[in-house]
Amino acid sequence: MKAVRFFGHKDVRVVNDIERPVPKGDEVLLKIGGAGVCHSDLHIIDEGTVVGTVFTLGHENAGWIEEVGENVEGYKKGDAVLVYGPWGCGHCKPCQQSKENYCDHQSEQAYGGGLGLDGGMADYMLVPSSRLLVPIFDLDPVIAAPLTDAALTPYSAIKRSLPKLMADEYVVVIGVGGLGHVALQILREISGAEIIACDVTEDKLAFAKQLGAAYVINSKDADAAEQIQKITGIKKAKVVLDFVGATSTIDLGTKVVSLDGDLTIVGLGGGHYQYSMNGLPFGVSMTNPYWGSRTELMEVVGLARQKKIHIEIEKHKLDDANEVYERMRQGKIKGRAVLIP
Ligand code: NAD
Ligand code: ZN
Ligand code: ZN
Repeated sequence: MKAVRFFGHKDVRVVNDIERPVPKGDEVLLKIGGAGVCHSDLHIIDEGTVVGTVFTLGHENAGWIEEVGENVEGYKKGDAVLVYGPWGCGHCKPCQQSKENYCDHQSEQAYGGGLGLDGGMADYMLVPSSRLLVPIFDLDPVIAAPLTDAALTPYSAIKRSLPKLMADEYVVVIGVGGLGHVALQILREISGAEIIACDVTEDKLAFAKQLGAAYVINSKDADAAEQIQKITGIKKAKVVLDFVGATSTIDLGTKVVSLDGDLTIVGLGGGHYQYSMNGLPFGVSMTNPYWGSRTELMEVVGLARQKKIHIEIEKHKLDDANEVYERMRQGKIKGRAVLIP
């Protein structure tokens, strides 16, 4: 079968000689409908976040059950499912609570399919346990694939700050890409706060307005923080969601977040932050959430089935993976690119 393989630093190749896996025990073989292209792939490809192993990329996956191992119950051929991405041990307390993104054993094992183990940019994908599947019912797997990360990650980040996102507060979203464009819709649907969105191009800012941002600011402007403070006034932003995570965006976040606010850094942009007592308002919770839980993914599917969120999708062939990654490096993708076998 065909697969998009990571061979090492900046070396991604589309190959045709991968054997189609056969599921045993609790394993499930999925016929891939779509595999989303996430910026985290670029951190792996360009910066060596995962080293020393060759594997198939793609950690945002959806498809149809093709074949199940002898111990799998409750699924049959043709069922449309998402693959929950962060694969934990399945046994520890966080895993039992469905929070495999915070599995006790994360430091001992690969992070999941497409993140050290074979992922979904291929004709078929082997999922190690039916526990990691979430049914999508009438949703199209091509369109639904990015729900597993581009929607789940911001959903989980927003949910933890929900009590602070009241209608008299402001929330700042930095980066209106794959994750950020869904974050805006989730905020619009489940929170009351007024949204201020930041990106670095005019088309992304116009896109943010369409998705529910009341205000947009170009974070390349030297006075971006002052522009935001002019909107929020002295109270500042109760929650800042940073989907870039560069030193400059973290710095912007610290300048606009309010007393007792949340500064949530989702982006893995390699930024640095040096704590200083005067650098952060009192009471701020700074956090770096990773992905979300399996049950939160079910809630995300609910939002999509109710048409409260939609992923803006570009469809591409597996063969075009390298071109798509290059466009992502240049910030040229609107919403999410999905590779379709
Ligand atoms: P993306 O490439 O689709 O979008 C990034 C967006 O940020 C683009 O619109 C780009 O124009 C914008 N941007 C770049 N620099 C900016 C700046 N200085 N100010 C404002 N906007 C800026 O990326 P994505 O797939 O949405 O991923 C975003 C980040 O989140 C990546 O670092 C990715 O690795 C990370 N991520 C983290 C998790 C997690 O669980 N913590 C999960 C998925 C992705
Ligand atoms: Zn991702
Ligand atoms: Zn675990």
